[in-house]
Amino acid sequence: MQIPAPFDYVRATTVDNALELLARHGPDSRVIAGGHSLLPMMKLRLARPEWLIDINDLYELDFILRDGDRLRIGAMTRHTTLLESAEVAGHFPIVRDAESVIADPIVRNRGTIGGSLCQADPAEDLSTVCKVLGAEAVIRGPGGERILSMVDFHRGPYETAVGPDELLCEVRFPIRTRSGSAYEKVERRVGDWAVGAAGAAVSLAEDGTIDDASVGLTALGLDHTVAEAAALLRGQLPQEELFVEAGRLAAAACDPVQDQRGPIDYKRHLADELTRRVLRLACSRAAQTQEG
Ligand SMILES: Cc1cc2nc3c(=O)[nH]c(=O)nc-3n(C[C@H](O)[C@H](O)[C@H](O)COP(=O)(O)OP(=O)(O)OC[C@H]3O[C@@H](n4cnc5c(N)ncnc54)[C@H](O)[C@@H]3O)c2cc1C
Repeated sequence: MQIPAPFDYVRATTVDNALELLARHGPDSRVIAGGHSLLPMMKLRLARPEWLIDINDLYELDFILRDGDRLRIGAMTRHTTLLESAEVAGHFPIVRDAESVIADPIVRNRGTIGGSLCQADPAEDLSTVCKVLGAEAVIRGPGGERILSMVDFHRGPYETAVGPDELLCEVRFPIRTRSGSAYEKVERRVGDWAVGAAGAAVSLAEDGTIDDASVGLTALGLDHTVAEAAALLRGQLPQEELFVEAGRLAAAACDPVQDQRGPIDYKRHLADELTRRVLRLACSRAAQTQEG
């Protein structure tokens, strides 16, 4: 199939207008942001919305804003904007690491953080990034606004807590002192989805020990962060033996499937190796902010 099933199209002018349109047209309507996931699904007839509600005019959802000890990012912020933002990279280098390996400039110029999180593809890089950074999702609907942790937001492959009459409006990231983060992905060719990827975020106490840590995996059959690795790392001085053990725990916790991207043992090996690498880099970045 190359041509979507027939649909009607309307452009929302504001968030309130988009919510009205979603309420009016019911569960057979879908919002379209960058369209880089929804349009292919429509062409394959895996999605058959009767109404497409275009939210590309909602400039009120396109922002990056420092607000006290958190960074707020609007749902319509494009991948390219995230990739090029010095402010985002300064607080969260993991975002630039991930964005630089998401698809290609054509996809990045249109695709949005909101669309990526709502698509909830198991190979989606930003879902892992948001989980390890402890981000919160701000959702608006007819009942008002609700704020969910990424754990509650993400219900499983292609499934989120966003209802059919709701919009994801914003993602909020806590800014921590003496922190560092990193993301590394293995792909079959440049711009491809991950065979496997890992992300880590750490913050250091004043004495240099790890105050808090989070490790997440992409496309490796683990929806949550690796709790065992976080428990191991907390209170310890960053060192190679610790990263090796955390890698082993990540490999044990994941549950990859064999597919055209590789066999299970190779993917487990990636979970192990990539976890070590991102922890090494995240800790060294955190130590640099401590010195600076
Ligand atoms: C060739 C190709 C390669 C790619 N490679 C990668 C990759 O390596 N890594 C990666 O992470 N991604 C990759 N992507 C996906 C890309 O990141 C998409 O931009 C992203 O998945 C969807 O974002 P979008 O804005 O295009 O969303 P859309 O396609 O417009 O929407 C996706 C879904 O989210 C819903 N939605 C969108 N915005 C909202 C909102 N604000 N509130 C509620 N629901 C909403 C839509 O209704 C739809 O169901 C690739 C895409 C392509 C086409």
